Amino acid sequence: MSVIVQKYGGSSVADLERLGRVADRVASTRREGHEVVVVVSAMGKTTDQLLALAREVSSEAPRRELDMLLSVGERTTMALVAIALHARGLDAISFTGSQSGIITNDRHFDARIIEVRPFRIEDELSRGRVVIVAGYQGMSYRREITTLGRGGSDTTAVALAAALAAERCEIYSDVDGVYTADPRVVPGARHLPELGHPELQEMAEAGARVLNAEAVEFARRQRIAIYARKTGDRHPGARETVVREGAPREASGVRAVVGDAQVAWLRGPGGALEALLQAADGAQVPLRELHTDGRSFAALVPLARVSDWPRARGLFAACGVSADEALGLVSVVGDGLTREGNVVASVLAGARAVGGGVEALWTSPFRVSALVPRAYLDPVTRWLHARWCEAPAPA
Ligand code: ADP
Ligand code: ASP
Ligand code: MG
Repeated sequence: MSVIVQKYGGSSVADLERLGRVADRVASTRREGHEVVVVVSAMGKTTDQLLALAREVSSEAPRRELDMLLSVGERTTMALVAIALHARGLDAISFTGSQSGIITNDRHFDARIIEVRPFRIEDELSRGRVVIVAGYQGMSYRREITTLGRGGSDTTAVALAAALAAERCEIYSDVDGVYTADPRVVPGARHLPELGHPELQEMAEAGARVLNAEAVEFARRQRIAIYARKTGDRHPGARETVVREGAPREASGVRAVVGDAQVAWLRGPGGALEALLQAADGAQVPLRELHTDGRSFAALVPLARVSDWPRARGLFAACGVSADEALGLVSVVGDGLTREGNVVASVLAGARAVGGGVEALWTSPFRVSALVPRAYLDPVTRWLHARWCEAPAPA
């Protein structure tokens, strides 16, 4: 029998009615004769609410304790889905990340999966049970509970699909696949029916939330096909995005435009760089786009990956490093982007046209990214999408 991994995100299980619809869908997949592993996220905004609770108690919550707290969100969902499946006459069992054999490093709040030992899942599948797994969590070699970074249930799903040699990994959310831009920001965004892993990884790393960047990287390395679908869409022919190896690529050109509002831009004198690196390492703050000319340096912080930003910002300030949080990152993603200056010129023109200007800009063949005032991030994203991804109106 073939194994299918289905992952349901927070919006798909936001309340009991929706959770019941997920159980219906899982039940029908099982009755079609597949072995089914279901990965679930915390219900709705639960993870944000748990984080807010911790921050109300203390602004310096230990990362280990945050992981103990945050892992509860997914545990709630897994048990409720298993109960809902029992109520539908299916034999189901729920497992936490550690029971599922998801072994991670010990970087709390932003752990990486090192190994998956899904023995218990395999045993239960062979008994004919549906297995429900709490996404976003694992266990370190020190036997501590860890979480995989925001959006990490996608990573759980892909890692399990690889470990179980699943036929497919289906990711269900509130959108019917991947678009040329976030459809919430860009009304004219176009649906992409097929996409290669590298392009989607570039989009995810630029901050497109639709799929977690590590999940896509995992899928690329393990050659797992991802089917991104909308939870309620059950009719045959419903739209989806298939992300797979060898998906036809456009030889060059722009594929998508991505905006990320959750960044901070660090700047300091060259002499403070080593102290900053030490502080960032100690506070587990990842630094991106770090560059220096010796006299000064700058770096970008992806804020979603930082458990305790106010504390880190304080540590950086003590090193003489400033943090600008009023900026957003806009990225044009594609291939062969530096072959001509057009894309870079368009980013500068777009920022000027909406009135913002560019604070910093980076180029690679696959991405051109710029920092713009946060208030202008969405307008610049829309401007660039209209420039590159929307067909010009017929004359
Ligand atoms: P889930 O909670 O199910 O994991 P997410 O909220 O993490 O779902 O991801 C789905 C959201 O991703 C959509 O609601 C959409 O607003 C956003 N998104 C951002 N960029 C894109 C894109 N390029 N294509 C589709 N959705 C996108
Ligand atoms: N619940 C976690 C989050 O909100 C993980 C996930 O949804 O994938 O980030
Ligand atoms: Mg997500």
